[in-house]
Amino acid sequence: MNHFELQDGELYCEGVPLSRIAREVGTPVYVYSSATLERHFTVMRDALRGAGLSSEKWGEPLIAFAVKANSNVAVLKTLARLGAGADVVSEGEIRRALAAGVPPERIVFSGVGKTAGEIAFALETGVAELNVESEPELKLIDEVAQRLGKRAKIAIRINPDVEAGGHAKISTGKAENKFGVSFAEAERLYANASNAVGLSPVGVACHIGSQITDLAPMEAAFTKMRGMVERLRGQGLHVERLDLGGGLGVPYFNQPDPPGPADYAAMIGRVMAGLDIQFAFEPGRVIAANAGVLVAAVQHVNARPEGRRFLVLDAAMNDLLRPAMYDAYHDIRPVRPRDGAEVVYDVVGPVCETGDTFTRDRALAPMAAGDLLAFMSAGAYGAAMSSEYNSRLLVPEVLVRGDQYAVVRPRETYQDMLARERPAPWL
Ligand SMILES: *Cc1c(COP(=O)(O)O)cnc(C)c1O
Repeated sequence: MNHFELQDGELYCEGVPLSRIAREVGTPVYVYSSATLERHFTVMRDALRGAGLSSEKWGEPLIAFAVKANSNVAVLKTLARLGAGADVVSEGEIRRALAAGVPPERIVFSGVGKTAGEIAFALETGVAELNVESEPELKLIDEVAQRLGKRAKIAIRINPDVEAGGHAKISTGKAENKFGVSFAEAERLYANASNAVGLSPVGVACHIGSQITDLAPMEAAFTKMRGMVERLRGQGLHVERLDLGGGLGVPYFNQPDPPGPADYAAMIGRVMAGLDIQFAFEPGRVIAANAGVLVAAVQHVNARPEGRRFLVLDAAMNDLLRPAMYDAYHDIRPVRPRDGAEVVYDVVGPVCETGDTFTRDRALAPMAAGDLLAFMSAGAYGAAMSSEYNSRLLVPEVLVRGDQYAVVRPRETYQDMLARERPAPWL
């Protein structure tokens, strides 16, 4: 469920008409619903609570929101106030999480290519754990920690070698992907890390992909992860945290509904029954995707003599990259649907790339120049992936709560854009 509904013939975000935001802030613009973000977080939290994954000893599962899905500080703050942690993949994301008030002990640092500088920053910050993706990285973390006179809490990220389905570009849990190490390697690294001066291994982690709509591969991976915890403990090694990553899919309207947080949590409860450990999760999309839309205006309708009708928008692939990058499907809803028979459109942006096509052959209510439409499910991997390609201004972001809204990232100006560059001295 989300809070984007038609009221009196026009699309609202909670109590605010999207047309009002478009008028006052301009288009394109991302609009997020606080109530939806909060609801998605609490549904996930309550599902995990209900599945017996909390204990007196370890407390509640850590739900570290994957900051890369939506890194806006106001969004992070909305979630942090409910107790969310942060799964981060760069120093920039650590800084965003801290700015949003996420306590360091709820920050998990993932990513395959952490630099020495980033590792040092994470250790100074005191993050909960660094998820280690390879042996060279383990060595680097040990060195940096020793140099700083610290012991780095680390978890070994395991690549469970399962096929999670979904798009090849967002599959991460096959042996051929760049993420994590094999179970055999993890066992060796964990034991080595236990003897390293700069390292304190606290757990194991996995994350097998994104937009996963079938629990079976997750169950297979998680069963293997449990086995791993038990094997390590059998060798007398200390393991206190099991991080099961993110990846749960969301309904994108053209697909059957994926399993929800309740099914996901129940499956984990079953697989992990009796395991005495602190659980951590890194959900991104399932929290944020359906909590945001991208609102765009129609520039014109280009009806070609050969029959195609192009709906040319003021939003482009630089604002919402998913269709171009992953062939992603976004439901498109007119903000004020007109009466009349549906018309089939190719929906495109103004960028000089054929890939700047949001969708082809989409039947929509009839549209005209100046009409507004909303790309649904754009709250995750939307603004976070936006760029200035074609020297288009970075798209602004708005957060709605009830009948009020705030511009939480203003549209940049052309002055800002140009001020970031410097002429070379010889020019
Ligand atoms: C991207 C990512 C996530 C979040 O994935 P979602 O599909 O958005 O839930 C979690 N953990 C890691 C390590 C990631 O890279």
